Amino acid sequence: MLTTGITTKKVVSLSMMTNKIYFLLALFVHMSIVNAQQSIDTLVYHSAQQKTVFILTATAGYYHKEAIPAGKQLLQKLAEKNTFNLMHSSQSKALEAMDLSQTAAVVFLCTTLDILDKKQEEVFQGFIRNGGGFVGIHAAADTEYDWPWYGQLVGAYFESHPPGTPLARLTTIDPQNPFTNHLPQSWEIYDEWYNYNFQNPNIISLLNLEESSYAGGKNGPKHPISWYHSFDGGRSFYTGLGHKAEVYEDPRFVQFLEKGLAYAMGVSF
Ligand SMILES: [Zn+2]
Repeated sequence: MLTTGITTKKVVSLSMMTNKIYFLLALFVHMSIVNAQQSIDTLVYHSAQQKTVFILTATAGYYHKEAIPAGKQLLQKLAEKNTFNLMHSSQSKALEAMDLSQTAAVVFLCTTLDILDKKQEEVFQGFIRNGGGFVGIHAAADTEYDWPWYGQLVGAYFESHPPGTPLARLTTIDPQNPFTNHLPQSWEIYDEWYNYNFQNPNIISLLNLEESSYAGGKNGPKHPISWYHSFDGGRSFYTGLGHKAEVYEDPRFVQFLEKGLAYAMGVSF
């Protein structure tokens, strides 16, 4: 009788302990999800029927303190004008909390260095393979050097840039192309000019950066600075422009980004 009593007591206390552990584990998982959800801001919301774009501004290196707010503001204007929902987070864990099945495009706005862990890489890769769209702005090419798939999605990694934000001349490769038919064949703009280590030969260049117009170019006469391509089931659009806040107010860039975003979302505005 006594022995049984002790055994029962032990079993009860053990199962209570197990319950406690399960409870704490469940609480921990719940708190992580709550934390990830709390890190997502809704910038523009129309309705559940409208498409959603998610902006990620996570950084593990340089933080573009002018370009990030300017980029968010421009995307907000585009979301209001073109009636899509717009969410934002500076935390990569938000990729896990977002309902990516209801997201048309993810924008990496001036992200830097290693921002995604294995789980987040899997989630994001699944999104692209499921037909999702990607827009990379400026330092999106200075991101995830340790993940070759990402380099191929963007099309290139950042290699270097000359100092400052000099005036440079861009050539519109095809003035008939819907992405660029609002642009002059040759135009000038101030920005920071990236040299690239190209990762994907299939990118379709839209704008060429003329190295003769500024000092410190290293890619030669063919120096793509904006491009697009379909990749691994999804769509990718990248623009190297976007260091200076003023660029996000330049009507030539505004319309170009609007078209790139529409392509990534798989819609026409
Ligand atoms: Zn920059």
